[in-house]
Amino acid sequence: MIHKRILVTGGAGFIGSHLCERLLKEGNEVICLDNLFTSTKDNIAPMMDNKYFEFIRHDIIQPIHLEIDEIYNLACPASPIHYQYNPIKTIKTSVMGAINMLGLAKRVKAKILQASTSEVYGDPLAHPQYEEYWGNVNPIGPRSCYDEGKRCAESLFINYYFQNKVRIKIARIFNTYGPRMHPNDGRVVSNFIIQAIQNKPITIYGDGTQTRSFYYVDDMLDGLIKLMNTSDEIIGPINLGNPSEFKIIELAELIIDLTNSKSEIIHLPLPEDDPIRRQPDITKAKSILEWQPKISLKEGLVKTIDYFERLMIEGDL
Ligand code: NAD
Ligand code: UDP
Repeated sequence: MIHKRILVTGGAGFIGSHLCERLLKEGNEVICLDNLFTSTKDNIAPMMDNKYFEFIRHDIIQPIHLEIDEIYNLACPASPIHYQYNPIKTIKTSVMGAINMLGLAKRVKAKILQASTSEVYGDPLAHPQYEEYWGNVNPIGPRSCYDEGKRCAESLFINYYFQNKVRIKIARIFNTYGPRMHPNDGRVVSNFIIQAIQNKPITIYGDGTQTRSFYYVDDMLDGLIKLMNTSDEIIGPINLGNPSEFKIIELAELIIDLTNSKSEIIHLPLPEDDPIRRQPDITKAKSILEWQPKISLKEGLVKTIDYFERLMIEGDL
């Protein structure tokens, strides 16, 4: 039985492809929209034969007319290397993409969820980060195309809600990892795993005392779908992340241990404006969504290491 027709923008990406799979499994019809900027059709190949799955190659900075019940707006490069490659395009994707998707939601009265980010808190002065904290973002720094683009998208969402009664949800997503992370996107989990399984030096930027809070993609999807399914008065923003905070050096040591790697650790310069600490306060997610991550970092890393080891064996690394 088909429940809903759901549009996933950025549906061929790391998180998007897992989301499409999950929504199909739950009995929905899924339209995956993506311009394949940071992904390939490989991520969605297993779904291509499913008659309830449809792929549209499209750039969300252009309007599109579709008949749908819900939109998950994920289209946006997410890793610093990718979003800094063409910063103006990143801003256009966040801002014009949000305008186009909100306009579509308004026209067909769809519910729409924005994949926002912990980056809206910038290099936070409040710790852990709670939703009422306004953030500490450098508006002209190298991360601003992403951070400010996402902040503007949140503003668009809230204003379409107040002005046009569009049914919105804003999720502030913290560092997510798992299979299908792009091997070349430079994010810390994929970098360290690939370096470790190849016995190459593990590249820690700075002294490695900066922290992040990582959660596994399956946990993240549980939270995201729960948020979409809340009643209309729940609009967020709601933090989705793991309150366990790790130093980057601890992550490196854990990955070396789990892969029995011979890699040495080397230190490279810390990128400009790299946030020093990041940890979500998930009180809201716990009480409103009855959600919290279940998969430990070790358990999630083992699954992710398996994935990258398979890629290496198949010659895709
Ligand atoms: P990803 O790069 O793997 O996926 C993004 C997808 O969007 C890609 O398939 C890309 O081709 C597509 N895309 C980019 N620009 C587009 C455009 N103009 N039109 C259509 N498609 C476009 O990244 P991800 O990690 O899967 O992130 C998905 C979303 O979640 C992003 O919006 C990101 O900001 C957000 N998010 C991710 C994390 C994380 O840790 N992965 C954390 C916070 C927020
Ligand atoms: N990092 C690192 N080595 C790498 C890649 C990243 O030490 O090879 C650090 C990076 O400087 C940052 C943290 O790991 O402090 C997380 O980086 P990532 O790009 O994964 O995500 P973000 O900075 O957007 O949270």
